[in-house]
Amino acid sequence: MTLILDGKAHAERMLAEVAAGVADRIARGHRPPCLAVVLVGEDPASHVYVRGKVADCARTGIRSVEHRLPAETPQADLEALVRTLNTDPAVDGILVQLPLPAGLDAKRVLHLLDPAKDVDGFHPVNQGLLLEGLPGLRPCTPSACMSLLKAHGIDPKGTRAVVLGRSEIVGKPMALMLLEAHATVTIAHSRTRDLPGLCREADILVAAVGRPGMVEGSWVKPGAVVIDVGINRVEDVALGERIFAADPARLATLKAKGGVLCGDVRYAEAALVAGAITPVPGGVGLLTRAGLMANTLQACR
Ligand code: NDP
Repeated sequence: MTLILDGKAHAERMLAEVAAGVADRIARGHRPPCLAVVLVGEDPASHVYVRGKVADCARTGIRSVEHRLPAETPQADLEALVRTLNTDPAVDGILVQLPLPAGLDAKRVLHLLDPAKDVDGFHPVNQGLLLEGLPGLRPCTPSACMSLLKAHGIDPKGTRAVVLGRSEIVGKPMALMLLEAHATVTIAHSRTRDLPGLCREADILVAAVGRPGMVEGSWVKPGAVVIDVGINRVEDVALGERIFAADPARLATLKAKGGVLCGDVRYAEAALVAGAITPVPGGVGLLTRAGLMANTLQACR
């Protein structure tokens, strides 16, 4: 039987833990943690993400303050806001929602954040602490994936892990965290040769590529743990017919609604072979938000 790694249930557990931590602070006479969210422009997906994060703050007792800026905000004004939030003692965490509109330099903004308030864990100081294996604010998605493994008693120690994708926000930190947990890790990317063969060697396979259904069932080693980080919307029926051949329900949704969400892994195929697997939706996506709440509480502490 394949174990479905239920991100929703684990996110609920993580949020409950954060809520208990916040309540404990308040009971001891402290103010609640405060997260400042900076949203620039009108990207609809970013607005949806921010709404979800603000709702999670409300659920856990974290105070959230939103700063909405127009898409044409000059770089200097955005940087000035970040500097103000850096020095505001009432703000514990700062989240700059990405992507920023064209013309704004996200890296410069992220590098300007006070590392102690960098709840996304993207600042070079926090990335460096992770590299050194020292405590710091860690990127939410990979740390939530590690928490999900732990919650299911899956110990990476001694396993062969393959991480598909080498971005700074998912692939690289994920590989470092698996390494820290004593896995033997290979990072693959767009120039890697023989991806299917490499994936078939993985006891733990993490896909963070952003290519719908790229990982076929035949790429998965029998019994492997598959973590699918990818969140993709498929609207092309021809593509859907290829990648959802073993998933008629999803293909039907695509045809009926004109679009459907899926991961980087062909879930229906991979679930037949894997020992454990995260679904999309309902997997890693919800955990990332819970990880952000945990980081905000940590930053406040
Ligand atoms: P990036 O685009 O920054 O990185 C993608 C990585 O995949 C790159 O390293 C790239 O290689 C590699 N890649 C692209 N195409 C191929 C290919 N054909 N074969 C092998 N490797 C390939 O993406 P992110 O890391 O930001 O995100 C990855 C996915 O995870 C996306 O679907 C995103 O939506 C999702 N995501 C989900 C989150 C969640 O909460 N669940 C949070 C963050 C992201 P190269 O470096 O050579 O270009």
